[in-house]
Amino acid sequence: MNQKQLSDFLQANNVPSYRLTQILKNYYSGRVKSYQDMSDIPKDLRSQLQDQVEFISVSAQNLIEDKHTKKALLKLSDDHSIETVLMDYDQWLTACLSTQVGCPIGCTFCATGKMGFIRNLSVDEIVDQIVYWNQLLYPKYIGRIVFMGMGEPFANWDNLISSLEIINHKNALDIGARKISISTSGIISAIDKFTQMNSNINLAISLHSANQVTRAKLMPIALTNPLDKLLESAKKYVNHTHRQLFFEYALISQVNDTPEEINQLIKFIKQHHLFYLNLIPLNQTSSNLSSSSTDRISQICQLLDKNHVQYSLRRNFGSSISAACGQLATKNTKL
Ligand code: SF4
Repeated sequence: MNQKQLSDFLQANNVPSYRLTQILKNYYSGRVKSYQDMSDIPKDLRSQLQDQVEFISVSAQNLIEDKHTKKALLKLSDDHSIETVLMDYDQWLTACLSTQVGCPIGCTFCATGKMGFIRNLSVDEIVDQIVYWNQLLYPKYIGRIVFMGMGEPFANWDNLISSLEIINHKNALDIGARKISISTSGIISAIDKFTQMNSNINLAISLHSANQVTRAKLMPIALTNPLDKLLESAKKYVNHTHRQLFFEYALISQVNDTPEEINQLIKFIKQHHLFYLNLIPLNQTSSNLSSSSTDRISQICQLLDKNHVQYSLRRNFGSSISAACGQLATKNTKL
């Protein structure tokens, strides 16, 4: 829903301002699927809204699920499509949101990167992914958000920031900053800008190698945003915000799991006590890269323990339905 369009419409029709809050509460809760369902709004107004103000900007084309995860293919108004994922494996229902159709970053291990970049999502299209899940889950609702879906969130900066305001606002989705995480491929200028915001939103950087040459092969963004500068920017972030900074590391067999790579990784993470490592066994996509073996992963964990590195090993929920990190892609961008 476009909030500005709604508020302009209400103003132009001299509707009292409390109706805006009422409509937004109805909408974001997921309790209603159309203006007509808003029983606390006068019938005439509901009909006018139905005709003149778009309700939800995304529509579900497909929904698949496994035990802890659901993945929805959502169609946009221009017939492009995106994917969004629901994770249900702890106290909170978590939505993984997309910010772009495709992605301009082109990481070699990522299905979205292979699609190329089509366009940025609008604020409504970002926020409405949560509304879609809230409608499906009602009376349950999304309590945590991760920006780890299709696209590089910081490459759609303005719409990301505006959507965060709605996600955070008590009259909208009312999700606390500490329950929101943004994952970036490592755009240094944007990380610096984010640092200056002094936000309580969690930040994660996709590291994937602490070796500049390896990292640039996996993530072309490292050619223009090199590791030494990224490290400087990361230190500025933790020193300024005093918040933990998460580094994502997809374990790829014979690429970034060799003894030399792991030693470099340990050295990198130990540069600051607020640096935290998230290890993720690589999720399979069509690339010829594969995950480190279970044995190698346990050896790496032992090494990290021995070196007192703060880390966690993520479970691969959602991989059976291609809903895990790096697996999101729509086969045809237009439906
Ligand atoms: S991993 Fe993230 S940044 Fe890299 S191509 Fe995929 S969606 Fe884009």
